[in-house]
Amino acid sequence: MRVIMLAPPGAGKGTQSERIAARYGVPHISSGDIFREESAAGTPTGRRLRGYLESGDLVPDDLVLSLVEDRVITAVRTRGGFVLDGFPRTLAQAEAAAVMAGKARASAQAAVYLDVPQDVVIARITARGEDRADDSAAVARHRFAVYLENTRPLIDYYAGRGILVKVDGGPAIDAVSQEIFAALDQLQ
Ligand code: ADP
Repeated sequence: MRVIMLAPPGAGKGTQSERIAARYGVPHISSGDIFREESAAGTPTGRRLRGYLESGDLVPDDLVLSLVEDRVITAVRTRGGFVLDGFPRTLAQAEAAAVMAGKARASAQAAVYLDVPQDVVIARITARGEDRADDSAAVARHRFAVYLENTRPLIDYYAGRGILVKVDGGPAIDAVSQEIFAALDQLQ
């Protein structure tokens, strides 16, 4: 199973990605988790990442690709698929991912878009509290604006490629999972 997750910040993308990964036996690759680990490790790259993470701005595409590409290729080779959570996040990343997938003959089968209204996601992020440096209300609003400008266009991009699966992310977690599984089961 090869799936890309698309959603505004706070829509439950990480939670649903975990569940999809468990159900279909493929790795969950979260760009945000990769970047937070690198940042916590205090490497030179980690220090470069920290400012972007704290402000909610996008990490530059070349740095994103350098940290994510090998993991995706390894996932395809060793596990036959992936759930991509947080990547691609810009059109340039989506185009780079498509080239990468073409070479590996492992194009995404579905781009699952979790649709959740802005007021709901901002409330969810701020309710998450102080666990993450980027969860304050002001940064949450900024991350949503960054999402609208850079990531939302990917919905049309994947619709154009015929792999978009739109799911209402508003209901309870289990109900959302069931709707996603119902769509993805048909692809197997
Ligand atoms: P959320 O799912 O709540 O939006 P993530 O954990 O996916 O948060 O991402 C946290 C931060 O990591 C983003 O605000 C951004 O700074 C950075 N980031 C993650 N993935 C990417 C990406 N593909 N391109 C650029 N920046 C990214």
